[in-house]
Amino acid sequence: MGTDLHTACLIPIEKGSDFTIYNLPLGIFSYKGKEPRVGMAIGNFIIDVHQLNKASLFGKKYNKSIFKSPYLNEYIALGKEQHLLVRQRIQELLTGAFPKIFKKRNQWLIEQSIATMHFPVQTGDYTDFYSGEHHAANVGKLFRKNEAPLLPNWKHLPVAYHGRSSSLIVSGKSIHRPKGQILNKDNQPIYSPSKCMDFELELAFIIGKNSQQGHPISTAEADDYIFGYVLLNDWSARDIQRWEYVPLGPFLGKNFATSISHWVVTSQALQPFLCEHPQQIPEVLPYLQQEGKQFLDIALQVDIKTQKGHQKTVTKTNATELYWSPAQQLAHHTVNGCNVRIGDIMASGTISGALEGTWGSLLETTYNGTKAIEIGKETRTFLEDGDTVILRGHAGEDAFRVGFGTVENQLLPVIEK
Ligand code: CA
Repeated sequence: MGTDLHTACLIPIEKGSDFTIYNLPLGIFSYKGKEPRVGMAIGNFIIDVHQLNKASLFGKKYNKSIFKSPYLNEYIALGKEQHLLVRQRIQELLTGAFPKIFKKRNQWLIEQSIATMHFPVQTGDYTDFYSGEHHAANVGKLFRKNEAPLLPNWKHLPVAYHGRSSSLIVSGKSIHRPKGQILNKDNQPIYSPSKCMDFELELAFIIGKNSQQGHPISTAEADDYIFGYVLLNDWSARDIQRWEYVPLGPFLGKNFATSISHWVVTSQALQPFLCEHPQQIPEVLPYLQQEGKQFLDIALQVDIKTQKGHQKTVTKTNATELYWSPAQQLAHHTVNGCNVRIGDIMASGTISGALEGTWGSLLETTYNGTKAIEIGKETRTFLEDGDTVILRGHAGEDAFRVGFGTVENQLLPVIEK
């Protein structure tokens, strides 16, 4: 990989942009009343891939419905060879190989500022793992004070629960503070708006190929089944969660909303940023063993912006803090024969580092609400109405930068009925 493509790119790309010519993430957008369609981000623009298909950029014409679609699923189903071809053709177009098509760029290059972004995939199932060791240990210490921070199974299998796909939302959509059962000061259950609203910083992968029920996916095959990645905020109501989670795990404390980025960054774009991970001790069972580079070096950040306009970065960390890799998560998820489908979302679990300032939730950052943080002239233990949580993530820098944009959602007051 050289700077040649970046230098040759005919579209201006501002320094620090997540959307260089090496990225080309996919999303679904609409503009000027037109139907939703497949787009790729470049600089401050979106490439209307449907229009390029119409202009025969890809040699053959793909079925129109693949690109003029409210979801990426049909495009994902084309498979990795076709994805690579589309990616290469668009890189060639952006560097001047098809001057006739490039000249008509007012037809296929749309400014991001005039576009509406939609939820990018049709998701049948959403699973949330718990693969961050520091997060699991921090939560263990806060929720089960006198016991070992990690439960005995944690280093033997990537723990997860089945989430809820109906309440998945895309960046930009607001959510309302949920109500539910929480404990009052006398430890008696009451029905109340949550008073402990939190975010969870996560990376998630999107399934790129259907698997067959009864047939596990091995760690070696996993890459074939991963289309790409999004940033994900697993909104959490800690007081509801704390009262309900034993013995079956998260339920209403989590399933009211989960938000993801507009853009799906493909595993092809992230390949240069794969890295090794320290040896796992104890040794894992053979079906969880893996070879080569399986972890992603992605810098991650969370900001909170208050209604009064104060903003602060509350977390800076990296996806290399995860203990279990996507390949291990997928191998474990399917080892019993459970099948996966295109568009399914598998979230990593909260990503936290070892030190203060690297923790991916307020539960950890404020020591379960006992130590407030300052945001401008305001303080927070948990989120207040009007707060906006902003997640960011990128691999590489400058010409090579491959980023996700933001996941940005505002917390609104409870809906009164
Ligand atoms: Ca989570």
